Amino acid sequence: MAISTINPTTGRIEAEFAAHDAAETSRRITESAAAFAALGETCFDERAEWMRAAASLLEAESEATARLLTSEMGKPISQARAEVLKCARALRFYADNASTFLADEPVADPAIVAAQRAVVTYRPLGVILAVMPWNFPLWQAIRFAAPALMAGNTALLKHSSNVPQTALYLDALFERSGFPSGSFRVLFIGAGDVESVIRDARVKAVTLTGSEGAGRAVAAIAGSEVKKSVIELGGSDPFIVMPSADVEAASSIAVKARFSNTGQSCVCAKRFIVHTDIYDEFTRLFVEKTRALNVGDPMDESVEIGPLATEQTREDIAALVDDAIAKGASLLAGGHRPDLPGWFYEPTVLSDLTDDMRIVTEESFGPVASLYRVNDLDEAITIANQTEFGLSSSVWTNDAADEAAFISRIEAGAVFVNGMTVSFPELPFGGIKNSGYGRELGRHGIREFTNVKTVWKG
Ligand code: NAP
Repeated sequence: MAISTINPTTGRIEAEFAAHDAAETSRRITESAAAFAALGETCFDERAEWMRAAASLLEAESEATARLLTSEMGKPISQARAEVLKCARALRFYADNASTFLADEPVADPAIVAAQRAVVTYRPLGVILAVMPWNFPLWQAIRFAAPALMAGNTALLKHSSNVPQTALYLDALFERSGFPSGSFRVLFIGAGDVESVIRDARVKAVTLTGSEGAGRAVAAIAGSEVKKSVIELGGSDPFIVMPSADVEAASSIAVKARFSNTGQSCVCAKRFIVHTDIYDEFTRLFVEKTRALNVGDPMDESVEIGPLATEQTREDIAALVDDAIAKGASLLAGGHRPDLPGWFYEPTVLSDLTDDMRIVTEESFGPVASLYRVNDLDEAITIANQTEFGLSSSVWTNDAADEAAFISRIEAGAVFVNGMTVSFPELPFGGIKNSGYGRELGRHGIREFTNVKTVWKG
């Protein structure tokens, strides 16, 4: 695949880059390994200072950087700006907290293990490869890089081939902030070249955020090399609304939860599972609010739905909708490509779904919502757990027993009650089942790429 910026709003190629050959790739791995040695000489306070400098740069450059994201992958400009500022917040979070998260942990009573002293320490692993997607092109890379660098690791980024300018921005950012040269390096390589980088002895671990197919491939290679991996894949998150909920509020947040980033988020709510007592009211409100969304040029401040990031993404989402309609689904909103240049697709709502439809089990990575009517809590949970994914979930209820049942029985890495799923630097993020394994963010995220080293002294 060409490494290029193709503006999704116009379909025009705006920048093209030559891929790195094997020699250049190897040179960059060497640089990263040398930077790891240099970082080993630094302390948390120095790295934290550089992290804060990176955050300040992002804040100062938020406008231009937001426009870059929008031109490369089409997200509405207000959402791009929010992404940049969220990245700055994550950098500051790890600058402030890494030394606490990775502080030595003394065993309460060393005598129990027959020692004078026994502690658990967290040491960096070395060069870590990150394979990242285009949907949050800055955030996905930063949520890996901030903890990795603060822990003392160095990073190689193989970004999606359609966001090369964002990748280059990141490549320069950490060096401009003071980190030793090579601490964060981009590799312009195709998906097919990832294997040789994982197998390189200088590379100690790999993280991938992306589709299930890519995750399985990378996890298998890392497994065969006995290298640590963190795998963050797709989701088909349920959004359950029960009769005790505030239906008006739930319907407004449902629209946001489904259509943010033009529906291209792993934790977008994708399946709306609504109790029959309030189904008609919720559906009326949800459809009305979906139809009111402003579709258009994502550089326009008032636009809420931009184009899909690639032509293929639009074709994939249209095929899911067409398959459902051909098999009898009802189309309540959207369902078409609007008459605009670029890769737009109308915000779409489907109901009357049956198990033979692809959209019931596959991820809809675009602006398409599925509605399900259920009779009780058990049926809601059965449908929620019906997919092979298990990333996050949202449940709307003011009944304590229902809430407890959802929290315990929904198969997912997170449950948000009376709110939509949002990632926070402070909270661990990740999935179960085919949504992957390992965690990013929070205290758990920074420990993933460390050697949990036991120190015992007799
Ligand atoms: P993708 O096609 O899997 O691409 C993601 C990254 O993996 C890209 O850098 C891609 O490179 C690379 N890649 C693809 N196939 C590979 C392979 N066989 N071996 C090694 N690398 C490979 O995914 P996407 O279309 O960019 O992103 C959408 C998917 O990501 C959705 O399923 C979404 O739910 C998931 N996602 C998950 C999370 C999470 O945190 N769980 C967050 C965001 C997105 P090329 O661009 O060069 O092909």
